[in-house]
Amino acid sequence: MLTDDFKKLLILQDKDLHVRSIEADLKSYPQDKKQLLAKKEALIQQFEKAKNELKVLEVKMNERAGTIAELRAKRIKYKTQQIEVKRNEDLQALEQEILKIQQNISDIEDEEIQLMIELEDGKENLKSFEETMTTDIAQYEDELLVLNDREKESEGHLNEARKDFDAANSDLSQKFVRAYEHVKRQVRRAPFIVELQGVTCSECHLKVSNEAQSSARDTSLITHCDQCNRILYK
Ligand SMILES: [Zn+2]
Repeated sequence: MLTDDFKKLLILQDKDLHVRSIEADLKSYPQDKKQLLAKKEALIQQFEKAKNELKVLEVKMNERAGTIAELRAKRIKYKTQQIEVKRNEDLQALEQEILKIQQNISDIEDEEIQLMIELEDGKENLKSFEETMTTDIAQYEDELLVLNDREKESEGHLNEARKDFDAANSDLSQKFVRAYEHVKRQVRRAPFIVELQGVTCSECHLKVSNEAQSSARDTSLITHCDQCNRILYK
């Protein structure tokens, strides 16, 4: 049969563990939010990178178009000169130049077609990426709102839980309060009050001394586990 004081001590631990679990939740929110923001940021960066790659392709295409225009102008110039020259070898030389220019234009046009295909594919990919990204970001933002709500809710719960703990604390004799605080400092990991199971502590699972075994049955006393120092009761 537990004494009233010991029952109150168990209530105190219960309230304390509740406070601690809310505190642990509250600690996880900033980390979870940070992760969501990082995922969002990574998507945006990926999108910007793909957009820049398309810009580079566009610049290359424009360069090719510019070169082709220059070569065509040159070809017209040589053709005009062909009409004006009198010597046969000059005519031949110009003909050679014109053929070279034509080959050059045709090569660059092939490159242009290749770039155009790449550009069109890139635009398609970017469009579908943007669609997925928009859906994902909307989802992350929803999750962020939920986390913010939960965080606020937990803060409210924490205030309530602390009040409950304080009430349980002031309802308990100083001797028990001090013993509990002392064990908490020494043990650090909950629970701090545990049942004796047969001859062993139910938390560290080690055998306790004969004195501790008999004293744990008298819950007007504070009995510690010889091994882990937690408060024992039977
Ligand atoms: Zn123990």
